[in-house]
Parts: sequence; C-alpha cells; structure tokens
Amino acid sequence: MPEPLTIALAKGRILDETLPLLARAGIEPADDLASSRRLVIATNRDDVRLVLIRSADVPTYVQYGAADLGVAGKDVLAEHGGNGLYERVDLKIAPCRMMTAGIDGRPLPRHRLRVATKYPRITERFFHRQGRQVELIKLYGSMELAPMVGLADLIVDLVDTGNTLKANGLAPLEHIMDVSTRLIINRAAQKMKHRAITALVERVEAAVAG
Ligand code: AMP
Repeated sequence: MPEPLTIALAKGRILDETLPLLARAGIEPADDLASSRRLVIATNRDDVRLVLIRSADVPTYVQYGAADLGVAGKDVLAEHGGNGLYERVDLKIAPCRMMTAGIDGRPLPRHRLRVATKYPRITERFFHRQGRQVELIKLYGSMELAPMVGLADLIVDLVDTGNTLKANGLAPLEHIMDVSTRLIINRAAQKMKHRAITALVERVEAAVAG
C-alpha cells in the first residue's frame, strides 16, 4: 500500500466551505473536525489523509512536502511567497479583497505612515512599488483596533462585506489584490505521485465546477 496523499487544511472559515467541496470530490473525514483534537485525520479513503494546521502554516507544510496538497487563501500564499509549490485550482471559496484602510473621513498625516498588518511582506511590496516608505507594524489579529488607539495610520487587511471596518470607524482605501482559496501542490509530489494527484485534482475541479 503506497503512502496516502496528505492534504493540509486549516480550521476556520475556509474549512467550513472546503469540507463540502471535498465531500463532492469523494473525500470525507473519519472524525468530526470541529470537535476532534486529532491533528492527523483519516478519511473514508485509504489513500487520502488530512492534517489540520494553522492557515499561515499550510504553504510551509506543502513547500517542504510534509503535506502533498493544501488548501490556503491567496493572502497566505502571497505572504509566504510560493516557493516549492504550485497553485493548482481556484476553489472559489471565501472570495474577498485585500485593502488598505484608515479612519473614515480623516486625512492621512504627512509624516511617514505607520501601517499595521498581519501581512508584512505583501504590505511592504505594495508600498515599495509605489515608492512610498512606510513603517510596518506586525500584528497577529484585530488590526481594526490599531488606528483607533493611535498604533497605526493605516491597516492592511481582508475585506468582505466591509462591516468590520465600518463597525470600527474605518473606511477601505486602496485595493491591493483579490483573494480566494487555492488548492496547492508540492512540486516534487506533483512529479513523484503524478497519477494519484492528477486524479484527485480532477475530482476537485469537477466539484468546483459542479
Ligand atoms: P467583513 O466584515 O465582511 O468585511 O469581513 C472582514 C473580517 O473578516 C476581517 O477581520 C477579515 O480579516 C475577515 N475576513 C474576511 N474575508 C476573509 C477570508 N476570505 N478569509 C479570512 N478572513 C476573512
């Protein structure tokens, strides 16, 4: 029996929409992921297992081949850089935009802007391309608080309905990129496990189309 294909998934918003898609592709976890404390989860198929990790770690597991495939947001992939992996299928899950945002109605100060974000690499690249020097402040969550308490002039975050920004007195300013969820594949696995991966990718593509 060959090694099973390992798919890296992260708990949260993306998982809730990924599981029905995987089910349509014929892959169902053997445990209830919401309540299980296991990090390695068997599936209804002997040749596929799941690992549950933090979303920002999914590209790293796939890059190093610790997982053959993974499901990750374009935001996380762009921040990681994409070394060692292919972005294979746009799963069309959790579409949103990455934007800058600032205090609604307040002009930006003239000093060097302080920008708070979970995405320092993307943010740095965005401002660098425009020839704007900014001071980056790395945060791990609740970015919307930063302008209100004077920690930053701007934030860079994901925006879906815009309700979170609005509830915190912020307005979206500049569009950085569109984001949706991607199926990613380890480059070496794509060669070594070509048949198994291609078959799985085709089932996932059919599930997305259906
Ligand atoms: P909203 O209020 O609908 O604009 O959603 C914004 C909040 O949800 C922010 O805290 C975002 O970080 C988060 N968010 C929005 N879309 C996504 C997504 N596709 N993946 C992860 N987080 C998201």
